[in-house]
Amino acid sequence: MNTLEKSLLIEQERNHVWHPFTCMQEWNDPLHEPLVLVRGQGAWVYDIDGLGYIDGNSSIWTNIHGHKHPYIDAAISAQLDRFAHVSFLGATHPGAIELATRLAALWSPGKASRVFYSDDGSTAIEAALKIALQYWQIRGRPEKHRFAAFQHAYHGDTAGASSLGAISAFHDRFSAIHFPTVRVSSMDNLRQLTALERNTLAAVVIEPLIQGVGGMRLWPQGLLVDLREWCTEHDILLIADEVLTAFGRTGSMFGCQKEEILPDLAAFAKGLTGGYLPLAATMVREEVFDAFVGPHDSGRTLFYGHSYTANALGCAAALASLDVFEIENTLGYLPEKAALLATGLAALAAHSPHVREIRQIGLIAGVELQPSRHVDRTGARVCLAARKHGLLTRPIGDTIVLMPPLNIGEQELLQAVQAIGLGIREVCGP
Ligand SMILES: *Cc1c(COP(=O)(O)O)cnc(C)c1O
Repeated sequence: MNTLEKSLLIEQERNHVWHPFTCMQEWNDPLHEPLVLVRGQGAWVYDIDGLGYIDGNSSIWTNIHGHKHPYIDAAISAQLDRFAHVSFLGATHPGAIELATRLAALWSPGKASRVFYSDDGSTAIEAALKIALQYWQIRGRPEKHRFAAFQHAYHGDTAGASSLGAISAFHDRFSAIHFPTVRVSSMDNLRQLTALERNTLAAVVIEPLIQGVGGMRLWPQGLLVDLREWCTEHDILLIADEVLTAFGRTGSMFGCQKEEILPDLAAFAKGLTGGYLPLAATMVREEVFDAFVGPHDSGRTLFYGHSYTANALGCAAALASLDVFEIENTLGYLPEKAALLATGLAALAAHSPHVREIRQIGLIAGVELQPSRHVDRTGARVCLAARKHGLLTRPIGDTIVLMPPLNIGEQELLQAVQAIGLGIREVCGP
């Protein structure tokens, strides 16, 4: 692409495009040159000028096996030869059937699970909420219509999913259209709810092991076990938002498997297709699904769905991604990589007075910087500086996120850590 074509493209970008979570005045400032990505390969993405960057946040936490993975590419091409999409209302297709079968076997070995498809994390959560609500109506307990969610939670941006969220910049403005949520911050907090409050709960929603958008906050070990017990004891459904944690990110296939619990409902999205296509799945325990089975006039049918539900290209990508986990023994190599990442980050913290805390689980890491009175938006500036050293990532406040594709090489992993170190040094000083 020559200079003229590039400047035309950027002019059109500035004239017509609106980006999520983005201050558009800054973005469209003539002095700000937008990063235009044109291709990827493995853990790398390349911009319009041919510069390469390690995809340090896996393209917003979606990518699992790297970009342009030949096996996933081929599976999508093969599906394209059949069709790209057909309706899932009144018909089914082999890819969706096979994927549901494999997801259920991986998620709840030896126990039956249902798979309800949708398009992204928010819709997988919306579906879970509506299923939970209708479940209690069918069971004759309509008073159970409220949801409990945690402090610092993030479950998506559609109105229903964002009702559960507790990050003020994202959620406060829309509080008028949010349904009331019971906000808790710990197991103790949950235990302190009065019987009156408890009896109105349809479900508790949690991001297992780690709260992502809330700042890469790790839950205490054993919390999921306690929560599962508490929910069972009080006849309240447990919804696990595995949108970030599923598909190997934390070291096991699913977050909940680290504590060997089975929630009643769970949401998968981001990594489901290996980061290729928007597809989501709400996993439902068979006992919950069973309540929805009844004659046409029993009112048990779930009236929820989207036009692209169970998209065939997405299902093909997801099946291929699951294959790659087996072919490449992805989970087998993870402990070594996670240990290498931990060592690298510990060295970084030891040598920098600007690092406040490192938080890590599997290949998800957050490097929290000391709050600075001198530097405004430190996290964003450090990420921008790290970009010059070949790392692309985004911060959450003053926490730098490092969450590369799972098959990143060891040298690349160390290079990513080094880029963060150089970025911190440039912005905060030695
Ligand atoms: C990203 C995310 C969501 C929302 O998913 P989208 O695909 O962006 O709608 C929900 N929950 C968690 C834990 C997430 O990380």
